[in-house]
Amino acid sequence: MKNFQYVRPTQQQAALETLAQDDKAMFIAGGTNLIDLMKRNVVLPEKLVDINRLPLRKIEPTSKGVRIGALASNSEVAEHPLIREKFPLLSQALISGASAQLRNMATVGGNMMQRTRCYYFYDAALPCNKRQPGSGCGALQGINSKHAIFGFSDKCIAVHPSDMCVALVALEATVLVTGPKGERQVPFKDFHRLPGEHPERDTNLEKNELILAVDIPASSFTQNVHYLKVRERASYAFALVSVAAALDLDKGTIRNARLAMGGVAHKPWRLMEAEKALVGKPVSEETFQQTAALAMQGAKAFEHNAYKLKLAPNAITQALKTAAGLS
Ligand code: SF4
Repeated sequence: MKNFQYVRPTQQQAALETLAQDDKAMFIAGGTNLIDLMKRNVVLPEKLVDINRLPLRKIEPTSKGVRIGALASNSEVAEHPLIREKFPLLSQALISGASAQLRNMATVGGNMMQRTRCYYFYDAALPCNKRQPGSGCGALQGINSKHAIFGFSDKCIAVHPSDMCVALVALEATVLVTGPKGERQVPFKDFHRLPGEHPERDTNLEKNELILAVDIPASSFTQNVHYLKVRERASYAFALVSVAAALDLDKGTIRNARLAMGGVAHKPWRLMEAEKALVGKPVSEETFQQTAALAMQGAKAFEHNAYKLKLAPNAITQALKTAAGLS
């Protein structure tokens, strides 16, 4: 691992200024992804600004819902009584991610900033437009069994690895960030980017900005929710496909719905057309199968991930059935 400087500010302003002073400085919180990337020479910061001493750990109710500090650990959020009672979809998604030890270290902000697990990205000897723009995409003609079926470009076909973010996009969260131009709110659906011509950029966070918190509005999605994660082994694996499903039911009829997928695109993949189509429909397997078919419109597979074209609609149907209490 390349040598680096390490600083540990206690004030937000000092953290921002320290980052801005050095083009090769990076924030570090839990470090559960960044340290791996540094060990493999994928990311080479010259200075790490450890933000763990900033007061960004609180999980507190607000007039509109809940505010979760960027440094709250994944475990703290998943187990918090307010999250379990009012936002169980988020709690389920978090518990399905990583291992207990990693969830204790990983923070909410870090979870949002984690990089893809595309193998070509992690091997500095192989071409990867995300790691080295212009070098090519090793996965396009290579092994692409875990890769995207939606929203990819000819520059990158990677997927975003988070479970938490799939639930947050379905719950219409907002991200509070601060930086040289002051604070701003970013709708969660706009926080992560599709690869387009610039797969090196995963998010719309501007240079020298810091994530402060995530706000989730209160909603009626407190009962009929389910986070379904399909993976290669029972624990500690990234999703091949995941589905965040939330239903608001009125005696067997769907009053409102939220649906998002993970493991299928470069960002958490919200399924708004499918959500709209569910409203007013009866709870039934047929309804959910039709929704899944609608959700899959526009999906396209590569050489090794065609199984996702079948797995994804099955997962959507199953997640909705479980959320509705049908299975
Ligand atoms: Fe790199 Fe993206 Fe291609 Fe993977 S899919 S090799 S991350 S450019």
